[in-house]
Amino acid sequence: MYDKKLKIAIQKSGRLSKDSRKLLHNCDIKVNFQKNKLISFSENMPIDVMCVRDDDIPGLVIDGIVDLGIVGRNVLEEEVLKRKFKLEKISFKILKHLDFGICRLSIGLPTEKKYYGINCLNGLRIATSYPYILKKYFNKKNISFKLCKLNGSVEVAIRAGLADAIFDLVSTGEALVSNGLKEVKIIHNSSACIISNDSNLNLFKKNIINTFISRINGVIKARESKYIVMHISSSKVNSIINLFSGCTKPTIYKLKFLEKDEMVAVHIVSRESIFWDTMEKLKELGAKSILILPIEKMLE
Ligand code: ATP
Ligand code: ZN
Repeated sequence: MYDKKLKIAIQKSGRLSKDSRKLLHNCDIKVNFQKNKLISFSENMPIDVMCVRDDDIPGLVIDGIVDLGIVGRNVLEEEVLKRKFKLEKISFKILKHLDFGICRLSIGLPTEKKYYGINCLNGLRIATSYPYILKKYFNKKNISFKLCKLNGSVEVAIRAGLADAIFDLVSTGEALVSNGLKEVKIIHNSSACIISNDSNLNLFKKNIINTFISRINGVIKARESKYIVMHISSSKVNSIINLFSGCTKPTIYKLKFLEKDEMVAVHIVSRESIFWDTMEKLKELGAKSILILPIEKMLE
């Protein structure tokens, strides 16, 4: 049967779920999410959204049960290494790295324990939910360790006498500190990404994916950009443009004629955030009525 609906898997509830839903919303994919329902349908696009545990997302994509998944690279990497270890076939593609779900996988030790390099971890028992990523790194460094595999509560494993060290997700590091631990070595940096099962897609689905990815690019570009409006003497327009590296050609409107000076309104799209020092430089150049506005969407 020619499948005419794209299936996307996102995390049901947790640290990625809000941002994943927001991403769909910002791409104008309207989904009527219903509590405790595995599948929700889009009202305006041929898309079904599956809400599942994040650990299941890489497998669902690799096995071709869904077409796209939004998942952390940490969970993806662990699943891929597990499947490689079992000599299973792996087929997937990272379509886009996203700007949320930013965290890292690090080794943590009790605060009082001295750390003098990765070799001092040799032979320790390490608690983690990510044994394959840990094993890959330790093998590369020729270090042995004893594994304590836990699916949760890793941060209390040392206090509970289950392990000497932990290998766990860290974002601010506050959770480590509040458990009497310190971060001694970052092993894997992670953020959310969109993955697809490339081998399974018909042309219809490929087209929807292209639209989705192009909208995401527009959303990200818009978020990073600012729309700047100001009034300035036309003789200063070039100095103004030089202040904004990477800005597109400005739009200039004539305002009024004074005796010598021609005042214009300059509209610029800047690719970067605007800081106060740029605003102050604009003022020094004689700019007036300066407005910095957020951009909602951008398509080039
Ligand atoms: P599930 O019930 O879906 O299995 P979980 O408890 O395994 O959820 P969460 O704690 O919700 O997972 O984290 C999901 C993902 O979010 C992590 O695998 C990681 O990629 C990312 N993540 C973890 N901690 C943070 C953080 N503090 N900030 C942002 N992203 C994070
Ligand atoms: Zn999980």
